[in-house]
Amino acid sequence: MDQPLNFSRRHLIAALVAAPLTSCRDAAPPKPKVKPNPNQAPDHPSGLVELIKLDPTIRLDIRYATTNNFTGQQLYNQARAFLVRPAADALGRAHRAAQDQGFGLTIYDAYRPWRVTKALWDATPPGPKRNYVANPKRGSKHNRGCAVDLTLHRLADGKRVDMPSGYDEFTLRAHRNFTGASAEALKHRDLLERVMEAEGFRGVSNEWWHFDFAGWQDYPVLDVPFEALGAKP
Ligand SMILES: [Zn+2]
Repeated sequence: MDQPLNFSRRHLIAALVAAPLTSCRDAAPPKPKVKPNPNQAPDHPSGLVELIKLDPTIRLDIRYATTNNFTGQQLYNQARAFLVRPAADALGRAHRAAQDQGFGLTIYDAYRPWRVTKALWDATPPGPKRNYVANPKRGSKHNRGCAVDLTLHRLADGKRVDMPSGYDEFTLRAHRNFTGASAEALKHRDLLERVMEAEGFRGVSNEWWHFDFAGWQDYPVLDVPFEALGAKP
């Protein structure tokens, strides 16, 4: 979308404060999918892993911790990125595969507390704009720590690569089958898709930056704020 949505900061904050904390407690805990390594510090009980603790060369550009996002509002107090353990490990492998090609992963968004999804929904007037925000009744795969928004940067100069559209640009240029971008941009989009899909992530048709981790159904919707997930590294 070209214009920021007309969110009221007061409305948004009110919704964040009012959001209930109970959504994760009713759901079953995530099923372990990999044998724990006895030498590794235990994960947070939520199952979420901080990506830069896993690999400090993964870069962050957490747009929802700034006003530089489609809402024009700061939604997170901290610029941090978490995924459930199997998805985090898979992302680490995708990052290394990108490095072999001279690129690295830059994360825009990963786990998103449910209250933020709720606040976004409540602050979006009913109508077509709600097609772009997840319905909190179902929750989002981001709420399960099983979806990630990301792009590539070049290892040579650290700059973000050209992609067919900007992040959260809700136009046809963001669609995966869009062919009208430069050959460079299309090559970058294809490389990102290749390294992610090789590790069990699946893209969606209308956002080149968004990937869901296979098996997301096994993980509950969570509402743990970043501040409750340990000290910021
Ligand atoms: Zn996403």
